[in-house]
Amino acid sequence: MKTQITRAPQIIRTVRMRMFARRLRVLWVKGLVRDEHWIGVDLGGTWVRVAVSDRSGHLMAKISERVDKSSAKAISDQMIRLTRFLCSKHGFGIKSLNGAGIAATGPLVQEKGVLIHPTAMPFDCVPITKPISEELGIPSCLINDAAGAALGEKMFGAAKGLDNYAYITISTGIGCGAIVNGTLLLGKDGNAHEVGHIVIDYEGRLKCGCGKRGHWEAYCSGSNIPNFIRMRLKDMPTRLVRESLLLKMAGGDLSRLSAIDLFAAAGKADNISARLVEEIGVLNSIGFANVINAYDPSLITVGGTVTLKNRAMILNPIKKHVKDYIINRISKIKVTPLGDNVGLYGAIAAALTYIS
Ligand SMILES: [Zn+2]
Repeated sequence: MKTQITRAPQIIRTVRMRMFARRLRVLWVKGLVRDEHWIGVDLGGTWVRVAVSDRSGHLMAKISERVDKSSAKAISDQMIRLTRFLCSKHGFGIKSLNGAGIAATGPLVQEKGVLIHPTAMPFDCVPITKPISEELGIPSCLINDAAGAALGEKMFGAAKGLDNYAYITISTGIGCGAIVNGTLLLGKDGNAHEVGHIVIDYEGRLKCGCGKRGHWEAYCSGSNIPNFIRMRLKDMPTRLVRESLLLKMAGGDLSRLSAIDLFAAAGKADNISARLVEEIGVLNSIGFANVINAYDPSLITVGGTVTLKNRAMILNPIKKHVKDYIINRISKIKVTPLGDNVGLYGAIAAALTYIS
């Protein structure tokens, strides 16, 4: 009896929702309710991803390619071509698009919609929003990829309802986005929290892709981990290095080493590799501690290819060592639930925030 009484309002609500959905469908057929389609572009150092989404962040179609770095103009041309291809393949008219958000590797000038001396591309200036808006006839906006990911995590992921939150990516490079007291921090050009370039080694033993020395990214990003390995192996006994799986995986040539080789060897209990993974973890924990001390977030989510492919080996040493460097109360640290789509969600969230 009791069950019937409590279920009755639910049945009424369900019937009302079905009637409302039917009414919406009638309005849609009459053309009174328009579909909303948004383009999200995640421009990384290696890959460019494009997606079509609705307002709720449902990614309806997506595509990715290696970034065409043949010229500065080729980069926006590639995004335009991929957008047109995706819309045509899945039947979305270009006219149905409300706008495009582009979350890109920095540095950038957000207001002008351009990348300036991007660390992962050999160009002084890469125009993004102007060619996209002119060619596709839609408004567009640009945001730093990690700042966009923070916005995406707040709108669609683990940071819903949180006012103090940070996102850190460990990928080709290292980046961060921070929301403090509910506000996404951007800075004068949109390059706040370029934490990959904070100094973690005052001796500056390794040179960063940006040209400066001692930066976090120069030691722990996917593209620079091999430099860190080679530097450390020079200090180790030759016999140990010769016996290490690392040398075998690089085919006897340390110049061919990759970050993938290091984590694979550490996963097979190779002593030197496990030690280097732990050392990278200590350096990462210094970077994380700087973020916790600067922004005081209650949660940090972590993404990027290096993290997503080696979750325990990246996160465990950070959690173990970060407390040695923080003064603020520790944040929860976990892998982003948005996976490798976090950049796309960030681009869509930026479009919904800055265009609509
Ligand atoms: Zn740097």
